[in-house]
Amino acid sequence: MGVKNFEVIIVGAGISGTALAYELARYTDIKSIGIIEKYEDIATLNSCASSNSQTIHVGDIETNYTLQKAAITKRTAKMVEKYCLRHHYQNEIIFSHQKMTLGVGTKEVEFLLHRYEEFSELFPYLEVWNKEKLKELEPRVVFDEEGNERKEEIVAIGAKNQWTTVDYQKLSISFIQNAKKENVELELFLNTKVESIEKSKKRGYVVKTKNNTFYADFVVVDAGAHSLFLAHKMGFGLNLGCLPIAGSFYMTNEKILNGKVYMIQNPKLPFAALHGDPDVLAGGNTRFGPTALMLPKLERYKKGTFLDFFKTLRFDKNIAMALWKLLKERDIRGYIFKNFLFELPFFNKYFFLKDARKIVPSLKLDEFRYAKGFGGVRPQVLNKDEQRLLLGEASVYTGEGLIFNMTPSPGATSCLGNAERDLKYIVKYLGKSFDETKFKDELTDGDYCVLPEPIASQKAIVNLIRA
Ligand SMILES: Cc1cc2nc3c(=O)[nH]c(=O)nc-3n(C[C@H](O)[C@H](O)[C@H](O)COP(=O)(O)OP(=O)(O)OC[C@H]3O[C@@H](n4cnc5c(N)ncnc54)[C@H](O)[C@@H]3O)c2cc1C
Repeated sequence: MGVKNFEVIIVGAGISGTALAYELARYTDIKSIGIIEKYEDIATLNSCASSNSQTIHVGDIETNYTLQKAAITKRTAKMVEKYCLRHHYQNEIIFSHQKMTLGVGTKEVEFLLHRYEEFSELFPYLEVWNKEKLKELEPRVVFDEEGNERKEEIVAIGAKNQWTTVDYQKLSISFIQNAKKENVELELFLNTKVESIEKSKKRGYVVKTKNNTFYADFVVVDAGAHSLFLAHKMGFGLNLGCLPIAGSFYMTNEKILNGKVYMIQNPKLPFAALHGDPDVLAGGNTRFGPTALMLPKLERYKKGTFLDFFKTLRFDKNIAMALWKLLKERDIRGYIFKNFLFELPFFNKYFFLKDARKIVPSLKLDEFRYAKGFGGVRPQVLNKDEQRLLLGEASVYTGEGLIFNMTPSPGATSCLGNAERDLKYIVKYLGKSFDETKFKDELTDGDYCVLPEPIASQKAIVNLIRA
């Protein structure tokens, strides 16, 4: 292939990289974009529909989100919805299900009703559903094995007629297809692994793969857990380490829930509580999960990446302290142990049943199975300076025409919002223009607000979507 020059190179063709390619192609005057992906197709890793929960995390039923975080996720989630509706992707890429958070027992019921008061201004469509209403909408959360009503008090806060579910791999493919329709030279290189990024002697960067060399004025690394791996190779983000948290699922043999059912988050736990979701790839059968297991690998179900994990963790006393702070919490220790049991062959279903029965009290062992081959890895970031785990996404803005993004959940929902943040930075850096009017018109609901500008430094962390 020889040498290739681009104005912008994006490393990684997951949902983050493809969303950025689309926005650059459609809303800026950047004329050449290269996307380099190491696997054989677009979005085969964490953005694949079998890897994640396929959810548009708006912030209305996720009780681990504060009101402030919900306002940010709502804005970016609506961008995905707007994009899909504009392209008529209903029931092909974006789907609608009823959704709710279920409170079980007096304490949780009180908590939910209080949360409803707080959040109903931001989400006016939310409704309160009592046991009687739930019998009609989601009967399996109400009745036990004998067909009697469960004894605990229950209430749900939920919504109907909202867009709730996305096949993020198909969405990624559509971003590339639509970007290619624009007046831009856009090239996608599959089966091409970026080995190194170096500063060019003249201007911009040299991106090297095994057989090729690429040049770019600006490089964005959207390579999931490998973003930090590549950043460390260049001496950036050395104050960060990556803690990969794998998530697995359990699948029912039939559709047992009509929509999404979320549980209330234990505030001491860093990861989302178990939920049940209709799987768009499995005819609406219910998928329970995700679990949360620390895994010494950067990629699930792929060979290797053990060594990459150790390199990206950069273990030292600060990482040890961050992990110690997590492990000294009794609830977190119990949670880690439980999630380990959820992966044990043969026994895992027995352990999982107890938790899943909080959602469906009548659930039986022969109704579900461990979803083999499903799930992915959330590249959680450890901040060494603060000796703590960051709960949301993180980026390193080097200020030198180079960005590294690490995107655990809800990174798929935030794809267009994150891309917007990077786009604004890129056009400013390269002296290009951005058609903001068209952008607002096509991707926002008129509730357009300006996100804080990222601060650039070798260490800087832009942790906008922070729990
Ligand atoms: C169990 C689980 C459930 C989740 N549920 C949800 C959900 O319901 N809703 C939601 O919004 N988010 C969810 N997430 C998070 C979401 O899946 C991720 O945030 C999102 O997929 C990240 O996309 P990405 O493009 O940044 O990374 P990825 O999808 O991981 O893509 C990175 C790409 O970079 C490529 N790459 C890596 N290294 C190189 C290299 N050296 N050279 C070239 N290419 C490279 C990879 O091959 C890959 O294609 C979930 C995640 C998990 C694990």
